[in-house]
Amino acid sequence: MAPRIEVAAHAGVCYGVERALDLAEKAAGTAPAPVRTLGPLIHNPLVVAELAERGVTLAESLDGADAGSVVIRAHGVVPEVIEDARARGLSVIDATCPYVKRVHAAAERLVSQGFQLIVVGEGGHPEVEGIMGHADGRARVVSRPEDLDGIELERRVGVVVQTTQTLDALDAVVAELLRRADEVHVVNTICSATQERQAAARELAARADVMVVVGGRNSGNTRRLAQICAESGTATHHIESADELRTAWFTDAALIGVTAGASTPAAHIERAVAAIERLSGASDGTR
Ligand code: SF4
Repeated sequence: MAPRIEVAAHAGVCYGVERALDLAEKAAGTAPAPVRTLGPLIHNPLVVAELAERGVTLAESLDGADAGSVVIRAHGVVPEVIEDARARGLSVIDATCPYVKRVHAAAERLVSQGFQLIVVGEGGHPEVEGIMGHADGRARVVSRPEDLDGIELERRVGVVVQTTQTLDALDAVVAELLRRADEVHVVNTICSATQERQAAARELAARADVMVVVGGRNSGNTRRLAQICAESGTATHHIESADELRTAWFTDAALIGVTAGASTPAAHIERAVAAIERLSGASDGTR
């Protein structure tokens, strides 16, 4: 019997990244040229190459953008970067995800209300750096409760969280803070996109005979999806493009599962599914 192909209920590019891609593509024809993104807009080399073909190239820093426009990524930046870009005469297209802006606003509000700010997240990540930049120098980053040991806590502590963190990580830090501070004010700024993709991948991998995970090898969230699928015991293949697929992966498979990271556009998922249909003999993929 021909195998069935099923794409995970939540897979591929999230709202914020899709919006950033749209804004960059529109800017290519309308904003002052050349249009450059400040850092890769998305952790996916194929998409970065496609954007370059449409006239949106990459600058690693403002020093690499001497004229035209810069697109700010969905992760956001510290406010000084936008001020600096404007001071250099560049046109700024701010594609910061509205959910990330919500974290910036919460950080500013808590600091203005006198709270010391704890950011639960991954130190050095561009989104976390951007959040820190909205806290007037009063923020510290922790990823786990033990990280609080090195911090002199004030009496009143405010907490925000990097959008891609888990509720478990936030819970653990907040539980420890409640033991150490008099007042703890938490704003849960987790975005559900990551959790939804992980839960859907886990659920599908538990039923599938083989999983194909589509997305950039440099994309942390795509690698994490591949890890979740592999942990379920199902044979898992992480591919960046459809030409990496192999017929042998699908021999004897009744159900082939497909998922994709938050930096994988729908067109790439479609291409992978079409190639799997050809290689596996699946006639009608269920999506
Ligand atoms: S994961 Fe959520 S917060 Fe991050 S860019 Fe996507 S939609 Fe925005």
